[in-house]
Amino acid sequence: MIVKKDFELIQNYLSDASNYKSTNCDALYIPETYDELIELVEWANQNKIPLTISGAGTGLVGGRVPLEGVIVSLEKFNKILELNQEQKTLRVQCFVTLNEIQNFLREYNLFYPPDPTEKNCSIGGTIATNASGARTLKYGSTRKWINSLKILLPNGEMFELKRDEIFAEGLSFNFQTNSGKIYSFKLPDFQMPKVKNAAGYFIHPDMDLIDLFIGSEGTLGIILEAELKVIEQPKDLLSLVIFFENFDNLYDFVSISRDKNKGKEYSLINPRALEFFDNKALEFLASKFNKVANKKFALWFEQEIYNSSFNDLKDKIIEQLFELISKCNGNVDEIWFAFNEKDVNEIKDFRHSISALVNEYISKNDLKKVGTDIAVPSNYFKEFYRYCCAKCEEKLINYVGYGHIGNDHLHFNMLPSDKMQNELAQKLYRDFCIKAIEMGGTISAEHGIGKLKRAYFELMYTENVLNDMFKIKKYFDPNLILNRGNIFPDRFYDV
Ligand SMILES: Cc1cc2nc3c(=O)[nH]c(=O)nc-3n(C[C@H](O)[C@H](O)[C@H](O)COP(=O)(O)OP(=O)(O)OC[C@H]3O[C@@H](n4cnc5c(N)ncnc54)[C@H](O)[C@@H]3O)c2cc1C
Repeated sequence: MIVKKDFELIQNYLSDASNYKSTNCDALYIPETYDELIELVEWANQNKIPLTISGAGTGLVGGRVPLEGVIVSLEKFNKILELNQEQKTLRVQCFVTLNEIQNFLREYNLFYPPDPTEKNCSIGGTIATNASGARTLKYGSTRKWINSLKILLPNGEMFELKRDEIFAEGLSFNFQTNSGKIYSFKLPDFQMPKVKNAAGYFIHPDMDLIDLFIGSEGTLGIILEAELKVIEQPKDLLSLVIFFENFDNLYDFVSISRDKNKGKEYSLINPRALEFFDNKALEFLASKFNKVANKKFALWFEQEIYNSSFNDLKDKIIEQLFELISKCNGNVDEIWFAFNEKDVNEIKDFRHSISALVNEYISKNDLKKVGTDIAVPSNYFKEFYRYCCAKCEEKLINYVGYGHIGNDHLHFNMLPSDKMQNELAQKLYRDFCIKAIEMGGTISAEHGIGKLKRAYFELMYTENVLNDMFKIKKYFDPNLILNRGNIFPDRFYDV
């Protein structure tokens, strides 16, 4: 076990990509074997020492940032263990990065569908946060792609949890692990929002136990290994950026293209990604991609082609696409179309550049970004987007909107120019959350709650539901040692 106590040596672990920082940490432990980790967890449990689990630190809600106690970095568990080409499964340790997974699979003409924009994250981090990305429109979030997990519980018990093996009966779990230990607990009775959601525990009557651990932000157990489902690479990709003068027209295109019952005339259209950029996002991007200068709204459309007679099919899809663009008043003459792999990668870079460009602007001008991660049901999306824009315009707060419009999920970032505006933006953030919740949405569609979104998470559920959710945490972790401070407000941890 590597142990570091010198502040200089551990300070890289005291923040994440949100820039939320801690100064309160006694030591960093880097176990090199599972036995060392088990010993550490048992010691912490006996002595009630808080352990904060560190993945690659790309999280955006301060989840891996310790409030007290010690940090446990899983960085030594970084091996790709086994590819089963027949079953199309890949077994990995928790610290393998998404980049490493995709590069490895490419050699076998395979890929792993979940694709958060940041690819240097660890697979364990993506499972802990149930990460998603542009391809979530077609493939769902991380949870759909997890066959099994090796989990270490706060009591030091390690167990292999397979999908389709342990289910709740209604809202009750009763099961026995390999060691013979019996677990029996109740789930809270509430409805999760029916949108893409990463806020709090995944709870559903008759649910699979594995889904409780996925997205639990490291509060219930440490994920050591995972078996992932992988699929064949498509034969080809259609990738294009479409420009619109008008937001309603763009959203009409989104609604029709993702509709499963869209009728024969557009039946071949089946996007895997629909990503939105408003004119302020395009202003940022124009500094790097000249072709988007002076454009109002843009939509990145990506579709896979698997069929072997694909040339013929590709032409037919393109024909239907152009008809739909024209019907929705998109700019048919100025489509940014990817003709080859280089173009496909340029468009991907275009999508991925927006957060970096905004962050660059923020740090250059010494500003603070107030970024949302809200999703609302489709029937409210336009109203919600307009509400956010209007509120910012009323308060003269600069903003930029982009993201996963296919899932009705935007990263609407406010860019306040001074302290007073920052306070206003924080208030607006709260208003946006309340509005989204009233509409049946979520305050976090993909980044999770961590430590930074707890005040907004509280707005989603009643105190009773939060209490019942926290009972699950206490059931698995009675001494509250694991990832203290994540998801639940401080008052829950202080009891
Ligand atoms: C530019 C940028 C773009 C991003 N885009 C997306 C996006 O499109 N979609 C998206 O979902 N996210 C996105 N993110 C957020 C981030 O990449 C994800 O949350 C990612 O899943 C975090 O992985 P990590 O290894 O960096 O985890 P960390 O930041 O280290 O940790 C995240 C949380 O997971 C816990 N954790 C980590 N590993 C384990 C483990 N093995 N067992 C138990 N708990 C663990 C930590 O304690 C912490 O609570 C983006 C981030 C950046 C900087």
